[in-house]
Amino acid sequence: MSHMFIPGPVDVDPDVLAAQATPMIPHRSDEFNEFFRGTEAKLKKIFMTENRVFQPPATGSGMQEAGVRNLAQRDVLSCVNGAFSERWYQVAVTNGKQADRLDAPWGDIIPPDKLADALKKKAYEAVTIVHNETSTGVENPLKELAAVVHEVSPDTLVLVDAVSSLGGVKIETDAWGVDFILTSSQKCLALPPGMSFAAVTDRSLKKAETVENRGWYFDLLRLEKHRIKNSTPMTPAVSLIWALNAELDKILAEGLETRFTRHAAMAERVQSWALEHGMEPLAPEGYRSKTVSTIKNDRGMDIGALNKFLLSKGMRIANGYGDLKNKTFRIAHMGETQMHHVDELLAAFETFLEKM
Ligand code: PLP
Repeated sequence: MSHMFIPGPVDVDPDVLAAQATPMIPHRSDEFNEFFRGTEAKLKKIFMTENRVFQPPATGSGMQEAGVRNLAQRDVLSCVNGAFSERWYQVAVTNGKQADRLDAPWGDIIPPDKLADALKKKAYEAVTIVHNETSTGVENPLKELAAVVHEVSPDTLVLVDAVSSLGGVKIETDAWGVDFILTSSQKCLALPPGMSFAAVTDRSLKKAETVENRGWYFDLLRLEKHRIKNSTPMTPAVSLIWALNAELDKILAEGLETRFTRHAAMAERVQSWALEHGMEPLAPEGYRSKTVSTIKNDRGMDIGALNKFLLSKGMRIANGYGDLKNKTFRIAHMGETQMHHVDELLAAFETFLEKM
């Protein structure tokens, strides 16, 4: 078996990879527009939204930039409990926003009551939340956090990064009142990197109308003007869109509920296996990611040696992120990864542990 258990890019199924080899067509053509309309319709199901879904060529970080740049003139509250929520804060600051931080230790969730307190102290135009912190393996309680924002500060927009969870975990975008939610192609959607997707509410676009210096590339109003015509202002990533269509059909054929259950089952398998082998997940129980398990290196393994061993069997996992390197390791179980892949990985891991 050859399989990667790193949190993106993940393995892409051969038929989806092959779809990219479909010949180019002009992106300003009825044929392309019809195709693009189709991928948006399928994406809406996965985003659980009736709102628009943008599909520009970019990565998730680009969409983080689009969010803060369009949806706040000045005041942003960034919830920070890991590397990618830290990045979103930095994106806000470097785009000239007045961003305040609500910090929680890496490995913890953003507590809803702390978010309520912060929102009572100042009127923010937008709050940024990373749903699934890929660095720590923590799933933030998004439904509760969004509900707090709506209750305490109804005019504040809820901006969510679901880069490592959307398509693998149920996120009820409309029902929970999420105004802007972004993801990247290379994680739970099991595509090559290079595309990003974001579902955006009408009230977000109304807000964007009042915001100056939205830029050009990520101007949501410009994207919307073209989306209505089933197109993008820039040249779309045509080959990736062929792959996207193939993968979206696969996801919808599996069924969303089945897909979410599969991800949860793989997480449960990895995390209980780790506990049985004397290694604890970093995240508290109840908030452990269903797509990437971040496990404490309680047995003092040489993670490099572990990966070398796994690589000899065609597999690889990820070391911890940033300061968590060697203190933790990460096993991703997302996209088209199946339970039999996980079983093979854990069997090889056990062999490594026995040899230690
Ligand atoms: N947000 C999260 C939660 C991520 O895990 C990542 C990448 O791993 C990013 C944002 C950045 O996404 P991209 O590399 O697609 O820009």
